Amino acid sequence: MSVFDHNEFNNHEDVVFCHDRETGLRAIIAIHDTTLGPALGGLRMWPYASDDEALTDVLRLSRGMTYKAAMAGLNLGGGKAVIIGNPRTDKTPALLKSFGHYVEQLGGQYITAEDVGTSVADLEEVATVTDHVAGVTSLSGDPSPATAWGVFQGIRAAATHRLQSDSLEGVRVAVQGVGHVGHYLCQYLSDAGAVLTVADIDAKAAGHLADKLGAKVVHPADIYGTNVDVFAPCAMGAVINDETLPVLKSSIIAGSANNQLAQPHHGEALAAQNILYAPDYVINAGGIINISHERPTYNKKTAYAHIEEMHGTLLDLFRKADKANTTPEKMADQMAEARIQEARQHARPAAA
Ligand code: NAD
Repeated sequence: MSVFDHNEFNNHEDVVFCHDRETGLRAIIAIHDTTLGPALGGLRMWPYASDDEALTDVLRLSRGMTYKAAMAGLNLGGGKAVIIGNPRTDKTPALLKSFGHYVEQLGGQYITAEDVGTSVADLEEVATVTDHVAGVTSLSGDPSPATAWGVFQGIRAAATHRLQSDSLEGVRVAVQGVGHVGHYLCQYLSDAGAVLTVADIDAKAAGHLADKLGAKVVHPADIYGTNVDVFAPCAMGAVINDETLPVLKSSIIAGSANNQLAQPHHGEALAAQNILYAPDYVINAGGIINISHERPTYNKKTAYAHIEEMHGTLLDLFRKADKANTTPEKMADQMAEARIQEARQHARPAAA
């Protein structure tokens, strides 16, 4: 199958396959849409089982970034990059630099950042060969706490809408994945009085967090069926699927993971089960909002105040979706597409 015929191709502007014999780099950079500005999106490193799995992931993630920036009101486009490999064993400074050279060749059309399997230190390495890197220490740093701050605001909005409660005191939340975003989210939730259950395939990470915050730990397979008010997926995508839907007990799904719905129809299935879904690319925009404040000079207070607007954005989205008798993710798609369409029309030269 050609890339153009790929199910997830979705009119991408550019897909770059990067192969460096010397360092063993195998990466894909996908640029979905630059109507609103340069394509910004993280670099994921993952031991994909096949090239096609990597391509599917990068295309889906890249498109999500276009919608995320559009819904967050930012003048940025959508892109993403993946390196095929195990981040624990295959990552070397030379490999990261080699990736950086490919980013540099794109001349600013794509700006890279941290994602699953990469850290701020890795991005610092990439930044030795290209300026087109966001979220490094000299700028706004790790975007994860900012992403978590946005997810926390989103959970508050979902609780207001569904549980008729402005407070999270005593609200039961299950967090799947206590990595970069998940552990900050747990801290914010704990400070707000939420009752936490956590799971992570890294048992040590889950145990450590549980000790620190007094959370309950469950086996990763049991997190879906935990009896809670909110399920917060903060690990990998496609966790809302045919297997998990029948066991879900929460009335809200709101977390940081990208592409939480395995298929679009799973959003309708959630609505049919009366579960309120906070669309992933809307609720997890805190990191990119933070990055948008990097230049000319980063100010954390201003950036975090901007991220707090997530509460109003999501409340407005839930209400609009209810009014239009549609699901939140469909309403978000409509709103994002309308913004991009409008920008395209303004960019088009007036007919003579
Ligand atoms: P991370 O790699 O630091 O953390 C992910 C955690 O999930 C790890 O601790 C991992 O062990 C755990 N995990 C993996 N599979 C699991 C499973 N099946 N069950 C339980 N735990 C599992 O990644 P992160 O930066 O925290 O990102 C988490 C999610 O949020 C990703 O989907 C990422 O794309 C998304 N996201 C992150 C940011 C950000 O600022 N870091 C921004 C937007 C979206």
